[in-house]
Amino acid sequence: MNPVELHNALQIHRPVLGDTVGLALFRLVRLVAMEDILGAGASAVTYYAGKKLGRELGLTKLDDFLALCDQLKIGLIKIPTLTDHLIHVDVCECVTCSGMTPVGRVLCHFEGGLIAGAVGSILKKDVQAREVSCIGGLGNATCGFDLVIP
Ligand SMILES: [Zn+2]
Repeated sequence: MNPVELHNALQIHRPVLGDTVGLALFRLVRLVAMEDILGAGASAVTYYAGKKLGRELGLTKLDDFLALCDQLKIGLIKIPTLTDHLIHVDVCECVTCSGMTPVGRVLCHFEGGLIAGAVGSILKKDVQAREVSCIGGLGNATCGFDLVIP
């Protein structure tokens, strides 16, 4: 089976509909279809999928990552803590969960993985992300991620 490469997936030819879709499609795939198929394993699988993707982006500067978040509209990103061993990232208007009625658990494992992978590739370290607050999961104001830098 031939893998679908990143650059190939991002080649978009839709002369009439353009390169954007409604957020509903993303959320149905991300939150409903994937959990349906993967069950309790969905959080780990989506975290590692995000992390692998984040690494493969090949980013070298934190500014490039922020620009990417802006371009993909993952959310409004703030980084209130930035030290050698801990980075805290807050995502407002999270693509995955903002607006949902809280379900009682964090949801944004894909985003956490993506952030960990991208920051890890920038710092050339194996960075782990833990989601400590979640808008649609727990009713918090942001989806917050603690990145532990070894
Ligand atoms: Zn969230």
